[in-house]
Amino acid sequence: MIIAFFIVYHKIIFYDDLLKKKTMYPYLFSIFKKHKNLIIGFSRKRDGSMKLTGDFLRDKTSFENRQRFFEKLGIKLSSIVSAGLIHSNNVQIVDIGDAGKIIPDTDGLITNSKGIFLSITVADCLPVFFYDDENKVIALSHAGWRGLHKNILQITVEKMNKSFGSKPQDILVGIGPSISKCHYEIGKDLKEKFDLTSREIFVKRKEKTFLDLKKVGEIQLLNVGIKKQNIEISQECTFCMPHKYFSYRRDKPKIVQAMIAVIGMK
Ligand SMILES: [Zn+2]
Repeated sequence: MIIAFFIVYHKIIFYDDLLKKKTMYPYLFSIFKKHKNLIIGFSRKRDGSMKLTGDFLRDKTSFENRQRFFEKLGIKLSSIVSAGLIHSNNVQIVDIGDAGKIIPDTDGLITNSKGIFLSITVADCLPVFFYDDENKVIALSHAGWRGLHKNILQITVEKMNKSFGSKPQDILVGIGPSISKCHYEIGKDLKEKFDLTSREIFVKRKEKTFLDLKKVGEIQLLNVGIKKQNIEISQECTFCMPHKYFSYRRDKPKIVQAMIAVIGMK
């Protein structure tokens, strides 16, 4: 048992080192790799918590963590547009005039403006990145079970289409590190809520039911016309990787600790 852990641990370190050699913040997804105009980032535990709580003394640290993280990516804090995050399906179009703002009551952001960076924080929920190279449109959505249940991913794609003419078949989507079917245990209420979606989203183990949120997201994206080969899903589970990510389910902290996801066009 101890030996196995040692090997796994070293494998992770080795993998991290390999990536570090390429770039300090490696591409999360290979799907966006050829689009050199994109900047995509996802912080790790070592970058510190990025969650803004509205309490100035506590937020001071998060602000400093954000500043340090964005500096490494070559992004100015003043060019960040943040979603307020309320587990809704509200998706907003933003532009350069929103730089530096937090858009209240929203969980998804879309823009075709260069030089501004969309951001959300997550600590188990799905960070979902969208890019349409034809029309140069990006989007970023925050999807936990509530957002998925309210079809936030579908709404994001529909809004990209309606506002900027993005065709679903052209949109690339990356689902980032988030809690996976190995750890997302659910009760009867959630089972009933998602029951109509598909059988393949549930995993049964020892009388317990687990929900595969990433699969739910994938099914919803396919239903709205995104091509299967244009969806990349991170296999990383935030709960499984305490050395790398915060997890709300695992840590149950009094003050939420979270990673930040960011996407922008140069
Ligand atoms: Zn897990």
